[in-house]
Amino acid sequence: MSEPTLTDAELRQKLTAEQYHVTQEAGTERAFSGVYWDEHDDGVYRCIVCEAPLFSSTTKFESGTGWPSFYEAMDPDAVELVSDRSLFMTRTEARCARCGAHLGHLFDDGPAPTGQRFCMNSASLHLDRDAAVEDDEAQEA
Ligand SMILES: [Zn+2]
Repeated sequence: MSEPTLTDAELRQKLTAEQYHVTQEAGTERAFSGVYWDEHDDGVYRCIVCEAPLFSSTTKFESGTGWPSFYEAMDPDAVELVSDRSLFMTRTEARCARCGAHLGHLFDDGPAPTGQRFCMNSASLHLDRDAAVEDDEAQEA
């Protein structure tokens, strides 16, 4: 956690009201309301707050939920998983491991090969279309 942390005022200036609500207050955007649930371009999905690479478009799948869904993180260390007992259920919250931004939740009903479903908010993500995703060695370009 050596990244400089933005102050609350800086975050409010950088993010839209919805991006702030989702990432800082663990909010959830309305299904089918975000910009990425029906996105099919190649690229790397980065944290909207700190730009950490979180998901590759190659692991995105059609979940039918109205939220962008991935079957695995780009790097297991990029996404922090936290037990979330709000709303009278136990779920697994997914956060950006670098800055702590709330991303969404992880469920175990995803497709092969992982069986996992990272149900993310578009508001937490920024698609970097210039980042190469086909070639593993080009991800840090
Ligand atoms: Zn982040």
